[in-house]
Amino acid sequence: MKIILATKNEGKIKEFEKLTEGMNIEVLSILDNIDFPDVVEDGKTFEENSAKKAKEIAKYTGITTVSDDSGLCVDILNGEPGIYSSRYSGENATDASNMEKLLKNLSNIQKEKRKAHFVSVVSIAFPDGSVKSFRGETEGEILFEKEGNNGFGYDPIFYSYDLKKSFGNAMPEEKKSVSHRGRAFQKLKKEVLEKL
Ligand code: IMP
Repeated sequence: MKIILATKNEGKIKEFEKLTEGMNIEVLSILDNIDFPDVVEDGKTFEENSAKKAKEIAKYTGITTVSDDSGLCVDILNGEPGIYSSRYSGENATDASNMEKLLKNLSNIQKEKRKAHFVSVVSIAFPDGSVKSFRGETEGEILFEKEGNNGFGYDPIFYSYDLKKSFGNAMPEEKKSVSHRGRAFQKLKKEVLEKL
C-alpha cells in the first residue's frame, strides 16, 4: 500500500521511515519528488492542524495521506511554544534559534520547574475525505544547555524521563520506542493500518 507523508520536515520523514520499517507500506514523501502545496496551519489545536494537513493533501494527490502535527509544551510557560513550536523564534526560525529562545526564556527557572512534554497528533486521511487522528505524548524537562546532536528540533535540550538522557543523545531506535510520534504511530498502526 502507498501512503504519502504530508510533511516537508526531514527529521519527521526519517522518523516515519523508521516507524514503518518492515510493514507492507510504501511511504512517499518530498524525498521521492512527491510534491504538494503547503497547508496553512491555522487551527488552534494539534488535532485541527494535523487533520487539515492530511485531508488537504489526500484530496490534492488522491492518495491516502499521513500527517503529523507536533510540538513541545513547557509547563511553566503555560504550554508554550505548543502548536507554534516550529515558528517560536519568528518567521525565519531555525532549530538553533528556537532552542536559543527557549533557553533564554527559562534562564532563571530552576531544574524542578522545567517540566515539559512533546505532543504528536498523527492523522490518516483517505481520498474519500474521511480522517482519523491519534495522539502521543512523552514527558521530560528542558535542560540548561544542549546535550547531543541527534534528532531534530528541540531534541538536544529535551531530557527524556523514559530514556534518562536527552533525545539529542538518543539513537533513533531508542527515541522511536518512547517518543510522542512513536506512541501516536503505534495507535495508528493498531487501529487503522493493521486492519486495512
Ligand atoms: P509542525 O511541523 O508544525 O508540526 O512543527 C513541529 C515542530 O515541533 C518542529 O519543527 C520542532 O520544532 C518541534 N518538534 C516536534 N517533534 C519534535 C521532536 O520529535 N523532537 C524535537 N522537536 C520536535
